[in-house]
Amino acid sequence: MTRPVFRFAPSPNGALHLGHAYSALLNRQLAGETDGRLLLRIEDIDTTRCTPEFEAGIYRDLAWLGLEWEKPVRRQSDHFGDYERALETLVDAGLVYPSFLTRGEVRAMISDAEADGREWPRDPDGVPLVPSIERQLSERERKSRMAGGDPFAWRLNVDAALSHVGHSLSWDEQGAGPNGETGVMDARPDAWGDVVIARKDVPTSYHLSVVIDDALQAVTHVVRGRDLFFATGVHRLLQDVLGLPEPLYIHHDLVLGDDGRKLSKSHGDTGIAALREAGLTPEDIRRMVGL
Ligand code: GLU
Repeated sequence: MTRPVFRFAPSPNGALHLGHAYSALLNRQLAGETDGRLLLRIEDIDTTRCTPEFEAGIYRDLAWLGLEWEKPVRRQSDHFGDYERALETLVDAGLVYPSFLTRGEVRAMISDAEADGREWPRDPDGVPLVPSIERQLSERERKSRMAGGDPFAWRLNVDAALSHVGHSLSWDEQGAGPNGETGVMDARPDAWGDVVIARKDVPTSYHLSVVIDDALQAVTHVVRGRDLFFATGVHRLLQDVLGLPEPLYIHHDLVLGDDGRKLSKSHGDTGIAALREAGLTPEDIRRMVGL
């Protein structure tokens, strides 16, 4: 029997905080209980916000927590070619289209609609959806704007992708969603609109690289924060369209700050390095995250 494969996949765009520690330690614990392997993956496609210093901090903090992981570590920015190939498949299948809209243009459309008293649709994170109007651009207009050097992202035509799949999509949730959802979940990728598959600046996006890497690394158990629960719908759609295997999903509690909000870089005092410098031990950290 092949061993289960777990992964912890932080982005080096900030220092690790208690929420990351919880996720990493939980992955380690579940891998230990199932004789599984633990991989570390550096999700650094955002080449402007991710830095080698933050990446070094991740290794330091995880090692201090007593974690070990298999080497070499997969760093996404070393593998843009893998994502480009998957993108090409989607382009060839006609499931993605170039999107030239700027944030400013989208904002203007939203304020016009709201000024008319129309409610603008939002994604599960509460972010206004980008309208899918560029699905209708003619091939000629696309080509001429691309040739003219107009910056564009590639967006998934979610309706075309869903009809291409031709059946409903689900995933096996062994953790829980924000409302306690567990078991076989209905995947609703359409709730996110036409998501970006490749950004204007890099030939991939979070959604594309996460499904490619989970498949290339033969990940069987995706253990991650509950904030990514609904995004799993997008991941299932991409997996199906690209012929990738379906892992199990375990979405875990988020460690919240004293103000009850999701931890971020602004919660400086919950940073692992800051807590270490303040004299806390790895055991203290485990206790703080309830492990
Ligand atoms: N890189 C993502 C993050 O740091 C995690 C992605 C995942 O686990 O699927 O939030």
